[in-house]
Amino acid sequence: MKSQRILIVGGGIAGMCAAIELRKRQHHVDLVELDSRWSVYGAGITLSGPTLRAFADVGVIDDIMATGWCSDGVDIHTAVGDKVAELPTPRVGRPDVPGAGGILRPELARILREHTLAAGTAVRCGTSFESIEADGQQVRVAFTDGRTCSYDLVIGADGLQSKVREHIFPGAPTPAYSGQASWRAVVPRPAAITRAAMFMGPTVKAGVNPISKDEMYLFVTEARQDPDRLEQAALPGILRQLLAPFGGIVGEIRDGLGEHSRIVYRPFFTLLMPQPWHRGRVVLIGDAVHATTPHLASGAGIGVEDALVLAQELDRADSMEAALAAHTARRFERCRIVIENSIRLGDMERTGAPKEDHAALMRSTMATLLTAI
Ligand SMILES: Cc1cc2nc3c(=O)[nH]c(=O)nc-3n(C[C@H](O)[C@H](O)[C@H](O)COP(=O)(O)OP(=O)(O)OC[C@H]3O[C@@H](n4cnc5c(N)ncnc54)[C@H](O)[C@@H]3O)c2cc1C
Repeated sequence: MKSQRILIVGGGIAGMCAAIELRKRQHHVDLVELDSRWSVYGAGITLSGPTLRAFADVGVIDDIMATGWCSDGVDIHTAVGDKVAELPTPRVGRPDVPGAGGILRPELARILREHTLAAGTAVRCGTSFESIEADGQQVRVAFTDGRTCSYDLVIGADGLQSKVREHIFPGAPTPAYSGQASWRAVVPRPAAITRAAMFMGPTVKAGVNPISKDEMYLFVTEARQDPDRLEQAALPGILRQLLAPFGGIVGEIRDGLGEHSRIVYRPFFTLLMPQPWHRGRVVLIGDAVHATTPHLASGAGIGVEDALVLAQELDRADSMEAALAAHTARRFERCRIVIENSIRLGDMERTGAPKEDHAALMRSTMATLLTAI
């Protein structure tokens, strides 16, 4: 299908990658983003091999490698810092792109914003939709800025709390708390830390991952009964306590935590919409339709893959219905595996299941994700 008029609601990772891919095919693309500053919070993000491959396909990998940090393999340590294993991270994209990486989220967002705008996407920030109505072969959208416009396709890429999902699929599942929460902090990178390293405590897991030449981020996962809101001022003290049993680099970071530390605390929520992922000419992508915990570091990657597959299926199909059905058919099983196995990995951590079972599930799921989309 050529020259479609397409609206994307949400300028996160999935929405921006969809805009770049659709503009490559000369579709007319409008993107509305609720946040007037089009910003994102300052934490690191881990990029798996399949995620790096997807970013290479979108055409942004050189910028990511120049700004972030890519390397091969992950070191596994005990909580006190003794190295017990190395996990390989095969190169699955271009041969010159390592099998794993990390970057600061605002830097990734900046790169994607620049490519989205350079591709010719018409972006309006501080704007959302008021209503989305089927109108014959078109979808009529009224916006919060008072404009109205008709589209051939509307893509809901508005994240975990998607309003497009609520509007188009009344009664759809809502996000569920997974029983774990994460802590992240951006800290200086010592020269010795050149790739991701994990430290396995009995129920608390910690890790570090380089995100640039100068910085890395600490990530910590803990079991937590309720998804409490915590006061920012209390975060350094709670995180220090959680990290009490840890040694090595994690112990050193713990000892340096204070009011100055850039700590982000987030409970994990998951969601997997049953098929279909479209109704009429409205389709959901990214966290709006499949939100995962970060146990496989694949949430962003499967959103980028959605963008690639949706654009490919629009190319191939001769009707919108066929394109959207083919898109979900290609995406559902892969996303289901990521979400369900991430939840299982979290449950194993919460209940102190054998580390070998955890490692085996991680390996088998990563092997599936290494296969081409
Ligand atoms: C603690 C934590 C750690 C994670 N770590 C990793 C990791 O290491 N690696 C990884 O791959 N994934 C990770 N993820 C998952 C990853 O962050 C998400 O899968 C990814 O950000 C989803 O991208 P998205 O574009 O679908 O949604 P979002 O990033 O949520 O973007 C949605 C966009 O839509 C906008 N928006 C919202 N509502 C509206 C509206 N009504 N109208 C217009 N715009 C709207 C928002 O402002 C936002 O810009 C992690 C998730 C969590 C919670």
